[in-house]
Amino acid sequence: MQFKSLGNNRQIVSLPEAVFKGLADDGSLFMPEEIPTLSDDFFDKLQEMSLSEIAFSVLKPFLGEDLGADELKEMVESTFSFPIPLKPVDERIQVLELFHGPTQAFKDVGARFLSRLMSRLHPVTEKKMVVLTATSGDTGGAVAHGFYKVPGIDVVVLYPDGKISPYQQNQMTSLGHNIHAIAVDGAFDDCQRLVKQAFNDRSLRQDVAVTSANSINLGRLLPQMVYYFQGVARIMEQNGQKPPVVCVPSGNFGNITAAVLAHRMGLPVKRFVAATNVNDVVPRFLNSGNYEPKDTIVTLANAMDVGDPSNWPRLFELYNQDTDKIKKEIAATVVNDREIQETIKTVFSKNSYLLDPHSATGYLGLSRELKGEESGFFVSTAHPVKFLETIEAVLPDEALKIKREFGDAFEAKGTHETMNSSYKELKEYLLKL
Ligand SMILES: *Cc1c(COP(=O)(O)O)cnc(C)c1O
Repeated sequence: MQFKSLGNNRQIVSLPEAVFKGLADDGSLFMPEEIPTLSDDFFDKLQEMSLSEIAFSVLKPFLGEDLGADELKEMVESTFSFPIPLKPVDERIQVLELFHGPTQAFKDVGARFLSRLMSRLHPVTEKKMVVLTATSGDTGGAVAHGFYKVPGIDVVVLYPDGKISPYQQNQMTSLGHNIHAIAVDGAFDDCQRLVKQAFNDRSLRQDVAVTSANSINLGRLLPQMVYYFQGVARIMEQNGQKPPVVCVPSGNFGNITAAVLAHRMGLPVKRFVAATNVNDVVPRFLNSGNYEPKDTIVTLANAMDVGDPSNWPRLFELYNQDTDKIKKEIAATVVNDREIQETIKTVFSKNSYLLDPHSATGYLGLSRELKGEESGFFVSTAHPVKFLETIEAVLPDEALKIKREFGDAFEAKGTHETMNSSYKELKEYLLKL
């Protein structure tokens, strides 16, 4: 399959180009040229299939021309090697837990698959390949773990020194091998600027193939479809053929784009709910018809603190840029910090289920939007251990239990380099790797 850009110049590229470029020449996003539908035979067997069997069938139409069947099989088996269970929360609502991967967040799925994809599609050159990423905390860990020991690729993660939690820092510094963590004397914006400078530096790129692993990469987006098939399969096992309402806590809107893609491939879903924190550019757009990006507001669900969602053009395109069509299929709802705290507290006391702030947004969004006889599931995007300060504030006893369970994960360990925020030092480092 080929991939098309969403910008005016309608660039058509191969899979390796889409994966290594990340963005089209005009800065727009890539989408699959077409969305294949899966056969009746597939859906008849769905309930009996394992997660990696599902992944193979879902991804094959997109990747099968570039990868051999054995290769793809191995990639999905090693990506989806942790469970993704569906659990009941209350009478109408279930949760699909996406946080059982190595860094306890759903971004593990995309990062693990992308690393394997890049390693297979890597053009044969003399150049050393470096995945260069700036992180404000969460993405860096998922990328580091995803690419850990992947042959032929080094990862350099830049994070602002002293501005991320020891728990997040450990996820990048404790690995070693091909993973290089660098604490930059500056803010997240400085890290991002350094990464941009490296991408624009022709003389560096003569010697080093720098590439990015950010969340707009199709190699991260496509595998995220897989767990929606898993969730719907488990629901239909329980209640026959009644399609669920699916709620996705959203920031950059990549995860919900993957859900809609899965639906277009034939997955039965009644409708979707996109739940955001108070960074509400999309909910406001669906109400008013005006798309107005805003400065980011810091919230308890900080992995969704996004003022201008990067995947929004993809989702909009899936509905032919027709606001009424989107509104028929996707309800959008906004959850504030006070509601996040209350939800964590009440769901725990009523249902003995502990939510992290992002998942709390998903739960409340779904419970608000379910009508009449509807039922459904939300996706839980992170384990509460990652947002322990919030749990501590509302459920101190539970926070203490988690702390005991995860023990030494809270003390900074491992090794990292430190660097000032001038580009010269980074360049020398990359050339010497
Ligand atoms: C990235 C992230 C999200 C938001 O996902 P998008 O695909 O950007 O909408 C939600 N929750 C957690 C924990 C995340 O890390």
